[in-house]
Amino acid sequence: MTSTVLILLGPPGAGKGTQAIRLATALSSPHVSTGDLFRENLGKGTTLGLKAKEYMESGRLVPDELVIDMLFARVQAPDCKAGFLLDGFPRTVAQAQALDKRLEGQSVRALNLSVADAALIERLTGRWTCKACGNVHHEKFSAPKVAGRCDKCGGELYQRTDDTRAVVEKRLAVYREQTKPVEQHYRARGLLVDIDGQRTPDEVFGRMLASARGEGL
Ligand code: AMP
Repeated sequence: MTSTVLILLGPPGAGKGTQAIRLATALSSPHVSTGDLFRENLGKGTTLGLKAKEYMESGRLVPDELVIDMLFARVQAPDCKAGFLLDGFPRTVAQAQALDKRLEGQSVRALNLSVADAALIERLTGRWTCKACGNVHHEKFSAPKVAGRCDKCGGELYQRTDDTRAVVEKRLAVYREQTKPVEQHYRARGLLVDIDGQRTPDEVFGRMLASARGEGL
């Protein structure tokens, strides 16, 4: 059986992380998020985590070679044999090219979520993430029932240091310069499906699931 690799593209705040968790469950496919892998490394105080820290906190991209090595090590694990779902990778054309080489023979599909800048800023700066389970609340759109506590597991909510206004604007600028060209990389190969990320979360999910299963190309 050919394994399928699903790539979620779109600016920070487009909903990749939230939808990736739902899609991974629906497709029984591991959710591989490079941002989460870096945060895990940072939490454990590894050399990689410490190297990535200054880039992450200022909203810049971590250098390609560090990301690519970390990602390839992760997708070598047995749970990724039958395919996986990438969230936050590739973020540069060089990363996309490295992935092409690594995935020879595997089927690839890229889902591209689009959301207007003003909405992205509102989404990111109001976001509160659970320290324990990674669940994301929003102070306006999905406020927790108990202030500061995750609805799912009761864990403590915190604001990611890169979700502050100044860093969010930097992340969006970096996205436009370095990540936007990745769309064309997949579009030119007939592998990209565009999805309106400003519909309701359930509508976006339905559209993504259908596309992941082969509709829409
Ligand atoms: P995310 O959780 O996907 O928003 O990622 C948080 C931060 O991790 C980014 O702002 C980057 O500093 C870093 N990062 C995550 N994925 C990548 C990647 N593919 N390439 C470079 N840096 C990345």
